[in-house]
Amino acid sequence: MRERFTTIFIVSNDDRDTKFYTVKTKHVERFRRYSVISLSALSAILVTSLILFFMISSAKNEIGSLNQKIYGLKNDLKLLDSLEIKKKVDNIENNINDINKYLNERGMFKSENSGGPEDAGGMTDVSIYQYYQSKTESILKTIKNVPIGYPHVGEFKSYFGYRANPFSGRGSEFHKGLDIKGNVGDPVKCTAGGTIEKAEYDGGYGKCIVINHGNGLKSVFGHLSEFNVKQGDKVNAGDLIGFVGSTGRSTGPHLHYEIRYKEESINPQYFLNIKNQ
Ligand SMILES: [Zn+2]
Repeated sequence: MRERFTTIFIVSNDDRDTKFYTVKTKHVERFRRYSVISLSALSAILVTSLILFFMISSAKNEIGSLNQKIYGLKNDLKLLDSLEIKKKVDNIENNINDINKYLNERGMFKSENSGGPEDAGGMTDVSIYQYYQSKTESILKTIKNVPIGYPHVGEFKSYFGYRANPFSGRGSEFHKGLDIKGNVGDPVKCTAGGTIEKAEYDGGYGKCIVINHGNGLKSVFGHLSEFNVKQGDKVNAGDLIGFVGSTGRSTGPHLHYEIRYKEESINPQYFLNIKNQ
């Protein structure tokens, strides 16, 4: 077969530098083939790049939506947390309510508002907590002024209520307190915070201390040998106020312990033990 030739002109703009080449046609065809192959390769690369680009952007979108989901879940958790906190605050409110109710029933606590805040809806978190703080502080203060526990540990010699005359054994008399055996000089401790109303000799009570705890409550300690406090002193539960003796109308060393509410004697045994149910 005769060899074919192709002439290629290269024409410049100003017509001064026009050149022409004559090459074998098979070279031109080979060049065309290579061009086609190169173009296909380029297209393939472009397509792959595009696919990769779309994959990356869809992955990015997915990450974005996952982040949004996480944010939503975090908010849900926050909501759950605040629901949990609200539940606890409600429980605290119920407990405070019960304590107030109980103390009111015992006539020991006068509260202007025994429930929760009247308008919790308008209150911020801080003011609600502030409310409960002052409420619990007030309850603690009241409880600290309620005589609780033993002023002196010893065997009970005589109980609150009617009893036979301890001197003659005949006839009955009302015993206003609890007699606890002891030795002369044993320490006597006060059972709640208060102010010493009296620390002096008082007839049948002998050397006697009266403590005013507020809220209508008083505690009385009779037949002491010595005082460790004087009138007007402030005391806290557990303070040493005096010593066991046998002064006044007494048949032997013991502590006469009395609790008065609004000047009426009540059974001190109710106040000795407070146990969790
Ligand atoms: Zn007594």
